Amino acid sequence: MLITDSLLLDYKRCSRRAFLNIHGDPRQQDPERDFLHKLRQENKRHIASVLNTFYPDYEKPPLSKTSWKEKAQATEALMQQGVDCIYQGILWVDDERLTSLEYLNHSQRIMPFGYDYLGKPHLLIKQPGQSKFGDWFYYPISIHLGRKAKPEYKLVATFYAQLLGIIQETSPPNPELITRPLKHSSVDMVQWLPKLQLVLDECVTILETVEEPEVFIARQRCNLCRWYSHCYAIAQSQQHLSLVPGVTPSRYQSLQKIGVMTTHSLADANLDSIKELIGTELAQRLQQQARSLVHNHAIPRHQSQYNLSEILSRQTIELYFDIEAEPERNLDYLLGVVVVDRVTQTQTFYPFLAETPEEEGVIWQEFLELVNTYNEAPIFHFSDYEKDTIKRLGNLYQTPNAQIKPLLSRLIDLHHCVINSVILPVENYSLKSLANWLGFHWRDAGISGDQCVCWYDQWLTTGDRNYLQSILRYNEDDCLATLHLKNWLLEFFSKINF
Ligand code: SF4
Repeated sequence: MLITDSLLLDYKRCSRRAFLNIHGDPRQQDPERDFLHKLRQENKRHIASVLNTFYPDYEKPPLSKTSWKEKAQATEALMQQGVDCIYQGILWVDDERLTSLEYLNHSQRIMPFGYDYLGKPHLLIKQPGQSKFGDWFYYPISIHLGRKAKPEYKLVATFYAQLLGIIQETSPPNPELITRPLKHSSVDMVQWLPKLQLVLDECVTILETVEEPEVFIARQRCNLCRWYSHCYAIAQSQQHLSLVPGVTPSRYQSLQKIGVMTTHSLADANLDSIKELIGTELAQRLQQQARSLVHNHAIPRHQSQYNLSEILSRQTIELYFDIEAEPERNLDYLLGVVVVDRVTQTQTFYPFLAETPEEEGVIWQEFLELVNTYNEAPIFHFSDYEKDTIKRLGNLYQTPNAQIKPLLSRLIDLHHCVINSVILPVENYSLKSLANWLGFHWRDAGISGDQCVCWYDQWLTTGDRNYLQSILRYNEDDCLATLHLKNWLLEFFSKINF
């Protein structure tokens, strides 16, 4: 069996994903989302910029080589020649090579026998020192799109260093990472070798069995995974506890110890035994969340410090605000506002749209004009992003603080209001989940904010205005969903006289 860098990366993110990638039925995978394609394109641009900035004179193994083994031999030939920098080299260690290496010291013997190993480091850089090639050796550099040197990146960099250690007969001391924007960091091998050994052993055990690792739906981790629909259907059929907001993998393990395995069993469990495991407050919260899901009803949080009836009380004019952004360009290209006028009984959507990135400053001024026109009106939004963006744009375009401060004081974050005042039968507290439960539906079903990021990119590339129309429709629906949520909260808390 072949152990690759991609397999380790997947395993570190989710053991089930690594298993399904090897043993799963590919027909059960979701189609690839546009956003993943966009990330790949961004990654290519990032790698090109690293090469241009630091390593313009690299060499590559010839493209004519077709098999991994041939490419690995070509890479080794370049290393033997002593070229300074190898881009897209292949590191291949088969079981025969691994078992024949009598001289390996203990730290190098962490790779289980009986497998072949394949690594594709972005770069191999020549350094003075001793190796089987002569008075030089190579160390690996991995280039990543993320801004942080994540654990999975360090693990894979350590894997490359191991393969190189075997191939060149000397271990490179510090593999490197380059993250965004162009940040170098080195990986501490002493710390990461034992972790790599553990992951390799676990990975091999899981791949040798035919039993699927259990499902655990974690929003961030599963969001872009192509097995999501498959896993989610299983989780739903099992009433899996990972569908209860607040149940993390470690809390799940604790709950399993007392036989709490499903949403229903958490709803019905003896509260005292859960309290002993995870503390009173958390136990109550998780049980109420499970009950809310099981009985499909909203439960007010009695300890809430919010006087929601007052905060949300109807005003003559109310604004509902939502932003579409392009993170790669650090651009907020659409500032959408729905103005609700209770006197004229109208709802008007004002989309301030930058058709080119250079127009961000213009739409910021237009947005300020509108919100200053209604300078007494509360501005409802969902999440911290809108507040942070007002601060960012204010700084960037040098808007006087005397204008920004009163604007910020008018913001009312409905996400904060919800999570501090009510438990709802949802699997997460995103605007989409909440509004869907309340019966609001987006005109374009199944679309998420990351699709808008792709649409904006496609608009800039193709000039096709249909992409802009789709973004505007999505953004208007986000504003209207925020309005729907606010109206529901007001009615709910007025009824229970909170
Ligand atoms: S959807 Fe989540 S649980 Fe399923 S394989 Fe992907 S990451 Fe793992």
